Amino acid sequence: KVRVRFAPSPTGGLHLGGVRTALFNYLFAKHHKGDFILRIEDTDQTRFVAGAESYINECLAWCGITPDESPEKPGSFGPYRQSERKPSYRQYAEQLIEKGHAYYAFDTAEELDEERKLQPNFRYSHENRLDLRNSLSLDEAEVARLLAEGHPHTIRIKIPAEGTVSFEDMIRGRVAFETSLIDDKVLLKADGMPTYHLAVVVDDKAMEISHVFRGEEWLPSAPVHILLWEYLGWKGEMPQWAHLPLILKPDGNGKLSKRDGDRLGFPVYAMNWTDPASGNTTIGFREKGFLPEAFVNMLAMLGWNDGTEEEFFTLEQLIEKFSFERISKAGAKFDFEKAKWFNREWIQRTPNEELVPQIIALLAEKGINAEADKVNTTLALVKDRMTFVADFWEHASYFFQAPESLDTAAVKPKWTPEKTAFFEEVIALFEEQSDWTASHLETIFKEKIAQSGLKVGELMLPLRIMLVGGKFGPDVFVIVETLGKEQVANRIKNGLE
Ligand code: GLU
Repeated sequence: KVRVRFAPSPTGGLHLGGVRTALFNYLFAKHHKGDFILRIEDTDQTRFVAGAESYINECLAWCGITPDESPEKPGSFGPYRQSERKPSYRQYAEQLIEKGHAYYAFDTAEELDEERKLQPNFRYSHENRLDLRNSLSLDEAEVARLLAEGHPHTIRIKIPAEGTVSFEDMIRGRVAFETSLIDDKVLLKADGMPTYHLAVVVDDKAMEISHVFRGEEWLPSAPVHILLWEYLGWKGEMPQWAHLPLILKPDGNGKLSKRDGDRLGFPVYAMNWTDPASGNTTIGFREKGFLPEAFVNMLAMLGWNDGTEEEFFTLEQLIEKFSFERISKAGAKFDFEKAKWFNREWIQRTPNEELVPQIIALLAEKGINAEADKVNTTLALVKDRMTFVADFWEHASYFFQAPESLDTAAVKPKWTPEKTAFFEEVIALFEEQSDWTASHLETIFKEKIAQSGLKVGELMLPLRIMLVGGKFGPDVFVIVETLGKEQVANRIKNGLE
């Protein structure tokens, strides 16, 4: 059975790359009718950030990604937070020592800092482990004494001095690493907590994970994990690995970082993230006005396509079409303009009934109590100009409140007393109409112009400006119809003052 996991560390908000990892795992699992598991990797207590886990839950829910098993919805492989699995790890680290694949290391943090000062490229590895304080370099009695006296120690993996570790990556094909270049990673820390490397292997085994999709930044860790699978005697059950391409800066120059968002003025987090330490909030795609459908669709296209020119997919369609063979090896450039384009297109594809409540909420924030019918009618008039729901305000606020100022400069030079008289008569004429439709109003307005001897072109623009404030908006008679008799009369009156 296909079982995949999304295994974030609760160290902050989720950025684009993190959500894409969750999405690709989810799509693969659901395509194969398998399970998608959320596991919280919180063994590094120093990096733990309060609120990060609930942010992750909310973010997945916003994207429509529902875990089959998670801390909130435990299945039979729990617990789903690594800190709660703490007692299970030590035995494996000790097993590795017995088999000769790991060792106790007694070096203190200060001693290691000292080494780093002496050699800037210091790595705890086959090159120097016999010169350091550990159970490979010390005699047995000394090790027994240090352990009996309770000296703080870590357990480190003994990486072979020679050889290669190679594996078949689902995206990259054959990948090989020289073990001589890998350091002896800590597996169990002095506080008894496992490091990421030990915990990830023990938990992937215990949770029967079949495939691992994770970011390319984890590729260098893969050989360590593979050695652990082998040394623990589990090689036959090892998951298949897939390392996802990086998400690159817009100019393609390196990995997109959290700081790029601030620098270039676009979100990199899925939702607003408030750092509890500084209280600073970083804007998210959700708050920027992205529809979750557009966000998910855009993310899926960062490194994947279905082999055709098609770019629009619902989550259901992505599940149906997803295949790891179509994930690219090359990094995917993030383009905020393209992201906005996705949102614009998704707004156009979203039925008005779904947008209307969001617009009512937007108007309520501005102190306007709008009726659904009116929002629906006006939305239809301006929808094709909207990239975000919030753009409704820019394009349609005049339907709900009189313009604050009029672009009179646009009409002033040609204004005459005849025009004032004309519009005063228009107010009276409109007042008499019982057929308040755009086409009828247009007919009578134009007949009136014909009688007056004035020019059509010189009167249409002033009418528009009096109603909406400037040179924008849909057909002016559609605006007249939508505003209604009273508003139109009031605005023309105000406009003439
Ligand atoms: N906890 C790791 C992270 O924060 C998980 C890496 C992996 O998937 O193995 O991304």
